[in-house]
Amino acid sequence: MSTEAEKIRTTCCIAGGGPAGMMLGFLLARAGVPVVVLEKHRDFFRDFRGDTIHPSTMQVMDELGLLEEFLKVPHQEMTSVGGKFAGADFIAADFSHLPVKCKFVMLMPQWDFLNFIAEKARRYAAFQLKVEWAATDLIRDGERVTGVRAMSPNGPVEILADLVVAADGRKSDLRMASNLEVIDYGAPIDVLWMRIPKRPGDPVRTLGYIGAGQGLVLLNRDDYLQAGYIIPKGAIEGLKSHGIETLRTRIPMVAPFLGDGRLEELKDWNEIKLLSVQVNRLKKWYLPGFLCIGDAAHAMSPAGGVGINLAIQDAIAAANILVGPLRGGTLSVDDLRAVQRRRELPTRLTQALQIPLQKMLFKGVIEKAGDVRVPLFVKVLRWFPFLRRIPARVIGMGFRPEHIRTPEILSQ
Ligand SMILES: Cc1cc2nc3c(=O)[nH]c(=O)nc-3n(C[C@H](O)[C@H](O)[C@H](O)COP(=O)(O)OP(=O)(O)OC[C@H]3O[C@@H](n4cnc5c(N)ncnc54)[C@H](O)[C@@H]3O)c2cc1C
Repeated sequence: MSTEAEKIRTTCCIAGGGPAGMMLGFLLARAGVPVVVLEKHRDFFRDFRGDTIHPSTMQVMDELGLLEEFLKVPHQEMTSVGGKFAGADFIAADFSHLPVKCKFVMLMPQWDFLNFIAEKARRYAAFQLKVEWAATDLIRDGERVTGVRAMSPNGPVEILADLVVAADGRKSDLRMASNLEVIDYGAPIDVLWMRIPKRPGDPVRTLGYIGAGQGLVLLNRDDYLQAGYIIPKGAIEGLKSHGIETLRTRIPMVAPFLGDGRLEELKDWNEIKLLSVQVNRLKKWYLPGFLCIGDAAHAMSPAGGVGINLAIQDAIAAANILVGPLRGGTLSVDDLRAVQRRRELPTRLTQALQIPLQKMLFKGVIEKAGDVRVPLFVKVLRWFPFLRRIPARVIGMGFRPEHIRTPEILSQ
């Protein structure tokens, strides 16, 4: 016997409580637009996520009057990012010259960031966050999307809305349901995501270790190192067949300080998660009544660590363009097209940099599986330090940084 679905009516329903969905939900509610955010998990506490908060996001926090409070959330600050390429130290990006208040990239566990946004959003009566509600399908009336079907802990629900936003990440269920066409660029690499014990004296700034056929990224979290170890796409099964010792041998080849026995604590492949790298974007990001943003519109390569920034920037642009039509009840396909027009160029430019970068990493280092020479771009960044401002701009601000143009409306 099928259960009758509960029905809810709102102005905007957002599937996905990640950086894109939470930021958009917050900004819409702040501007008086009734919004329901669906998050399929019970909370934000998952460590299979990126940790970076970019200077552009802190600038936006300042525009929202939240920066001072935000900076009180425990975090670390990186005024530059760098690494070791074939044993040579280099600084890839120097944020200290950016034209913003916070001239650093912040490392903050994503759950703390999302909890902060959720707490601020809950101040507005227009905001509802439904956790453990998974969007399962779109509701349509002819060509137009009119709502979302979801599964809540109490059974099926239908949320009817003027606008449905898919912000449900790289494996977006709603993007799949929409049948929008995806342009896939493929990726030659995957990343193994694991925790490595931290010891006193570990280098705190170095992020990337590349050489000897290996690529490793280390993020300095409070009491451990979060490691991303790069492997050829699809190579995990082969690695597993050699046993976990293979990681204990390979990782210190590129980061020798990790060869001090601490990797013995990596005991089981269950402790290691696979990030299947994808680079893609939608040809068209919208349908009547429906819009994709963040990773749901464009899965980014981990190269440069910019996916969170793009997701947040998409949300700000979407709010800037859509608050007026949503409040006035005049939302049209032209408004949704305007969001894509605004955000497609930054996405394309970023992916155009990431694709050759990850190809170079794969062809020049991982596939070669031997000694590598220090590449010219690393030498150039060492010879001409002012050039480090260019990657800093791309990583820290992104192309076409967005600003808050939506009002705060307190009375509902
Ligand atoms: C291991 C890892 C490390 C990364 N490191 C970095 C980094 O250092 N810096 C960086 O900038 N980027 C990093 N990224 C990429 C970055 O996390 C993403 O680009 C960014 O989170 C995209 O934000 P989003 O809101 O679009 O999607 P997501 O963050 O993926 O959020 C989507 C949300 O939707 C929810 N959801 C999914 N399906 C449904 C459904 N059907 N119904 C309801 N909710 C649903 C998910 O639970 C999730 O909370 C990393 C990604 C991974 C996987």
